[in-house]
Amino acid sequence: MRIHHINCGTMCPIGGRLLFYRAGLPAAQRRLVCQCLLIETDQHGLVLVDTGFGLGDVQRPHERLAGFFRTANGIRLNESETALRQVERLGHGANDVRHIVLTHLDFDHAGGIEDFPHATVHVCDRELSAALNGRQGFIAKRRYCPQQWDRDVKWQTYQLSGESWFGFTCVRDLRGLPPEILLVGLIGHTLGHCGVAVAKGRGWLVHAGDAYFDAEEMDPDGPRCTVGLRLYQRMMEVDRQARLANQERLRNLRRERDGAIELFCSHDATEFASLQASSPKGRFIRSAAPDDITPAI
Ligand SMILES: [Zn+2]
Repeated sequence: MRIHHINCGTMCPIGGRLLFYRAGLPAAQRRLVCQCLLIETDQHGLVLVDTGFGLGDVQRPHERLAGFFRTANGIRLNESETALRQVERLGHGANDVRHIVLTHLDFDHAGGIEDFPHATVHVCDRELSAALNGRQGFIAKRRYCPQQWDRDVKWQTYQLSGESWFGFTCVRDLRGLPPEILLVGLIGHTLGHCGVAVAKGRGWLVHAGDAYFDAEEMDPDGPRCTVGLRLYQRMMEVDRQARLANQERLRNLRRERDGAIELFCSHDATEFASLQASSPKGRFIRSAAPDDITPAI
């Protein structure tokens, strides 16, 4: 598998200094990104982990995105950042994306679903149910935007029960996907929020979605978070106890498995910058033997 780190959305929220107070932080990183993964598998086509904002959001933002979040989050819509355009720049087409694995269904993660009509969309059952039926209250009404996923989407839902990954409840057998990709329960930000763990070498790459927002929250020796990002997480949470407990468990995981776990969240631009630097460049062309692949560029 080849794993690309891509940014499928940029947000410059109101109150920037409260969100990005760190001295010396480069201007380019004083923003929120929407980090997604594009995984080229040998036998299962392309797999996207989260989709950021999609073409429909760029073309019809007023129909698809709540005015409150457009303004408060300072959403900067840019067609070239959509997952579809980035997939195309790597030499693939929309139909090559066969699977989308979602951390959750918030507007800044689910916007690109409809750009990939041949993809099966894998998500926790509680998340889909909350997005379809639980849109009560100011935030819940606005965070989920059914216009982003109300056309023939092939959903595949999972119950988080039974299996365990380093003590986290997980789903190991995602239908049609290789066993190296797992859903890991990280409830709190939303009712069905999950991380996505991808086996990489001898360790794991873990997309923690919105389980945390500030890379320094994961410092096992002294977690910190900017005031603004702490307030934003509180505004968006549905279960504070579970959210904070999961953050603590992620810190423990990092402490105990240092080197074997590469952890990142959706929105921290510093994490994205360092991970993107490690992304492979160009597209791979498969030869007859699935394991024998050669860079095209
Ligand atoms: Zn988010």
